[in-house]
Amino acid sequence: MDKKIIKRLLTFILTATLIFTGCSLDNNVSEDTQDDRVVVSLQNESSQVVPDDGNLEVHFIDVGQGSATLIESDGHYMLIDGGDSKYTSSFVSYLQDENVNKFDYIIVTHYDADHLNGVVGALESYDADVVIAPDYKAESKVYKSFVNLIDEKNIDITYPKSGEEYKIGDAEFTILAPNDTHYDDANDYSVAIKLVNENNTFIMTGDAEIESEYEMLETGIDLSCDVYLAGHHGSKYSSSQAFMQAMHPDSVVISSGRDNKYGHPSEDALARFNAMGCDIYRTDELGDIVAVSDGKNITFNTTKSSASKNIKENTQKNSSQTNKNQTKIANYIGNINSKKYHLPDCGSLPDKENQAYFNTVKEAENAGYAPCGNCDPDN
Ligand SMILES: [Zn+2]
Ligand SMILES: [Zn+2]
Repeated sequence: MDKKIIKRLLTFILTATLIFTGCSLDNNVSEDTQDDRVVVSLQNESSQVVPDDGNLEVHFIDVGQGSATLIESDGHYMLIDGGDSKYTSSFVSYLQDENVNKFDYIIVTHYDADHLNGVVGALESYDADVVIAPDYKAESKVYKSFVNLIDEKNIDITYPKSGEEYKIGDAEFTILAPNDTHYDDANDYSVAIKLVNENNTFIMTGDAEIESEYEMLETGIDLSCDVYLAGHHGSKYSSSQAFMQAMHPDSVVISSGRDNKYGHPSEDALARFNAMGCDIYRTDELGDIVAVSDGKNITFNTTKSSASKNIKENTQKNSSQTNKNQTKIANYIGNINSKKYHLPDCGSLPDKENQAYFNTVKEAENAGYAPCGNCDPDN
């Protein structure tokens, strides 16, 4: 069969699955999509001209408490952060599985360990044409390794200039922050970008907090977007109401570790996302999250298998996701993907592995779930 036809079929299946299941994705779909990627990369290796599918892939890689985002468009790769040291080997094998050959760009949002360690790992295996990183120095060991590695590779750090535009494959990105040269909090030095593929827009702000968010608002750059990678892992000091209103994202991705000691994502930030009706995708619940943009629509694939990496991090139970495989009688059943909750006899319950259990309406709403429109569980 022609590759294009296979691709169309897969897109159709994926879209149909999304329609029939609401937002819940099953594992088969993501496997299909991965097979699809293998087809494309095999062509890469045979050094033929790869037909460009116009798709932009944004991989929010599960690195526990940290952040690592791989972006691909037309065979060009870009990395934003790489997660902490504990995950560096699994992170680098993810890059290998995706057939990364080199990076057109690596962005280090800032020099905190939960963002920088994996970048050092990636630079040990891959070359990068351009490394964009903020203009401040850190005291840490990992910062020294980063600077040494950059020196060895003869790469000059490109300091981010707000408003500057770059091209990556068929997509482009604009630097949104930092907009100042001195901050008290290293997080506010975070390089933030707006990534655009035709009509689809992603905003990623590293660990930028309110101060930097207000400066981004003041630039006057259009911040409306489809997907927002929650600033500072969903901390309450980021994703301020004004910033959220300017972006008005359909989907929010949160990269955080299960039961992390910082309490990320915070109830405050989750409440702001829910109030705006955003779909929420969390790496601590879903593992790796891949958003595929065809220029008009964005589809999300999740790989459940990797979620088990996080579970090892802490054995404490999360109230919103109890014993996945156990049959359980609950008053209300939530869908961990769509964040809707249902009566146990509702016709549109999610698969068991995507269920969360609540005893009261209040418990469900506090966990950020909204009532199903069909079974009306809150009435
Ligand atoms: Zn961080
Ligand atoms: Zn940080």
